This record gives sequence, structure tokens and C-alpha cells, in this order.
Amino acid sequence: MEQLFCPTCGTFLYFKQNYEYVDSAEFYCKLCPYNYNITKTAIDSVPLKKKRDELVLSKDGVGKGDKAEVVCPKCSHGVAYFTQVQTRSADEASTIIYECCECSHKWRED
Ligand SMILES: [Zn+2]
Ligand SMILES: [Zn+2]
Repeated sequence: MEQLFCPTCGTFLYFKQNYEYVDSAEFYCKLCPYNYNITKTAIDSVPLKKKRDELVLSKDGVGKGDKAEVVCPKCSHGVAYFTQVQTRSADEASTIIYECCECSHKWRED
């Protein structure tokens, strides 16, 4: 908190919290009757918080898919996300793309 000085006698002002009114406090001078009241401004942060929650939700909403117990060829981690990808020609079987939960290495199942 910045130091305030009494405009009347130049002595630095003491700070006193007003406990009857929680949002109010005052600076006062010990040498003369000067005092300076400050009132804290209540900041309504509810709309900001709501916006942040929505952002987090939409980020989590983009799921990476289901997890499978496969061993990563790069780091040997035992769990990876998998996505099934349908190849262009209909007579070919769909391919499974794995993404390691640990190191994000991607590989496809042969
Ligand atoms: Zn004073
Ligand atoms: Zn890995």
C-alpha cells in the first residue's frame, strides 16, 4: 500500500480498518484531526468467471476418443487413445490410429 501523508501537517498517515463496515477503512493523522476515508469498490467478477468456465468446458468437449491398452513403440507406455479411420476403398478394413497418452506419439495398427 502506498504511503499517504497528511496534507495539513505532513506527517504520514496511519491506517485503520473500520470493522463495523467491512468494506470501509480510513487513514488518520496522529498529530491533527485529519482523516481520510476509503471505500473498497466491490468488483462483480461473476460474468468473467462464467465465461472462463465455458471456455474450459468447450476445450474439454473435444474428446480424444477411447483409450486402449496398447504399448507405445516409442516410450513403452501402456495406454493410448485410439481412433478408427475408414479407408477410401470400401473393401479395405478400417485402420486404427493410436496416440500415446504419455508422449503423444502417433502410430497406426497394421
Ligand atoms: Zn496532520
Ligand atoms: Zn509414448
